[in-house]
Amino acid sequence: MRILILGGTAEARALTQALAVRAEYAATVSLAGRTAEPLPQAAPVRSGGFGGAEGLARYIRDASVDVLIDATHPFAAAISANAVRAAESANVRLLALRRPPWSKVAGDTWTEVESVDQAVSVLGQARKRVFLALGRKELQPFTAAPQHSYLVRSVDPVDPPLGVPHAAYIAARGPFSENEDRALLARHKIEVIVAKNSGGEATYSKIAAARALGLPVVMLKRPALPDVASVATVEEVLDVLDHTLTLSTARGV
Ligand code: NAP
Repeated sequence: MRILILGGTAEARALTQALAVRAEYAATVSLAGRTAEPLPQAAPVRSGGFGGAEGLARYIRDASVDVLIDATHPFAAAISANAVRAAESANVRLLALRRPPWSKVAGDTWTEVESVDQAVSVLGQARKRVFLALGRKELQPFTAAPQHSYLVRSVDPVDPPLGVPHAAYIAARGPFSENEDRALLARHKIEVIVAKNSGGEATYSKIAAARALGLPVVMLKRPALPDVASVATVEEVLDVLDHTLTLSTARGV
């Protein structure tokens, strides 16, 4: 069974690893190609955009893909929407691997916002020391609030740097530990954190650290994602695939 995994997440990588040891599956991973040094994968990788939903559908047909798995980040809404249209057009099964969002627990002080622009306005006028745990493409709106001091942590370096007078940068890839993040936030005297509700364990450390230090979090809500068959874990994906394979074998497909 040929599987195309739309990746770019820890879960997609774990799924690729799990499928690599199963002879009945041949997986290919698709990455957007944004990260300068992507982590190695346990399967062949193709990189770069497909050129929209039709391009993805064409790829699926040309590569005789049987199942498309959307294991992209929950904030990667465009590719998830394309996956739905492409799967329909190429008539293949689509399964989404989606990690559940984080939920607020006792001790958390979150202001939930719908957009980065809203996050900027929630920071207010008074000068603050802000930790931005965001990707490069989400940073631009903060130039509208140059009074704040920003500490930016992203996977790839922010180049060119943000057009604000006070900004420091950390290029680092999770997972991070709560202790590490507590120390970081304390060292930089951070007063507020802006984060995306990514879910998962790899980047939860900053949320736990904020709670421990009594810091507020401006939390970006997830974009609306298409309503498709979805599961939350790699094990569940394997179950669905095994079931699909059993049915196809029984039908002699
Ligand atoms: P996006 O806004 O949903 O997608 C923009 C365009 O990038 C898509 O239309 C597609 O181009 C291309 N693309 C995205 N993911 C792709 C993939 N896995 N394979 C091939 N092309 C892909 O995506 P994004 O938010 O920029 O995220 C890009 C990648 O980074 C995703 O793979 C995602 O899983 C990963 N990632 C994103 C975030 C985040 O916060 N957004 C965080 C961690 C990892 P075409 O239309 O030309 O096909």
